Amino acid sequence: MTAKIIDGKEFAARVRAKVAQHVSRLKQDHGIIPGLAVVLVGEDPASQVYVRSKGKMTVEVGMKSVEHRLDVETSEADLLALLDQLNNDPEIHGILVQLPLPKHLNEDLIINSISPAKDVDGFHISNVGLLGTGQKSMVPCTPLGCLMMLRDHHGSISGMDAVVIGRSNIVGKPMAQLLLNDSATVTIAHSRTKDLADVVRRADIVVAAVGRPEMVPGDWIKEGATVIDVGINRLDAPEKGEGKTRLVGDVHFASCAERAGAITPVPGGVGPMTIACLLANTVTACCRANGLAEPEGLTA
Ligand code: NDP
Repeated sequence: MTAKIIDGKEFAARVRAKVAQHVSRLKQDHGIIPGLAVVLVGEDPASQVYVRSKGKMTVEVGMKSVEHRLDVETSEADLLALLDQLNNDPEIHGILVQLPLPKHLNEDLIINSISPAKDVDGFHISNVGLLGTGQKSMVPCTPLGCLMMLRDHHGSISGMDAVVIGRSNIVGKPMAQLLLNDSATVTIAHSRTKDLADVVRRADIVVAAVGRPEMVPGDWIKEGATVIDVGINRLDAPEKGEGKTRLVGDVHFASCAERAGAITPVPGGVGPMTIACLLANTVTACCRANGLAEPEGLTA
């Protein structure tokens, strides 16, 4: 079998177009412009790139983008004061604090100080609890993007065997919860899992969120399974020239694509869906804040 490639770039563009359409309707019918505030503390180069592209895409879909770039030495009290101000700003519907934070700041305290209704990353403990009990919540962007692609490809995933490799709070656990909420039979694998190959071989759906380059080989994949590769790993690529690098996922793409029914590539798979889902969450948060109907197909 040769797998269908699930094109995350194209899918993300469709999600953004849907968001833009809804934003335009909110403006026209209600005079409301959804606003997203992104807070970056320090100068981590990767975080700066993410924040820049988040801001650019927020504006592209017609929303208001506010960026707060704070000094690396910003105190916890000052950051909490800014969050309080944003929590109370009626023009801001989504707040995202770019992680990781500098070590002197308590990440849990900061995240849990964002109003849950504006927590567009879905990391606030209230949103984690709501998702865990199958209630309406803000859903973490990367797993939401994976779920959208799975629903699009399969229609329903009810009754399917799914394995999530990785149990982080930002990807693995919420991903498993979303699959469970859609009635898949879910196994969560991690670094202590015995005979991972055997566990993965039983799965109709494999979501790899490990952070280990090309760790999952093709012969772990059940014939026809759907493979969602969340991993983003940068490897040296001397064949492309001195100092050059290339991105690979957590699955070995070529061999997995030979057995899978469908697979997401890296780059161009899950990655582009993450920011698209951040925008989707912001428009959802804005609708909820104003007591308006939520756009269909943009949330879990
Ligand atoms: P974490 O490092 O927080 O979690 C990794 C998980 O993988 C842990 O649960 C760990 O298990 C598990 N693991 C490690 N080694 C093995 C192994 N040999 N066998 C089985 N499980 C193992 O990573 P994240 O969840 O934050 O990210 C995972 C990947 O996804 C990374 O490559 C990251 O860059 C990427 N990512 C991509 C995003 C996107 O937009 N596409 C967004 C976020 C992340 P244990 O708990 O036992 O240690």
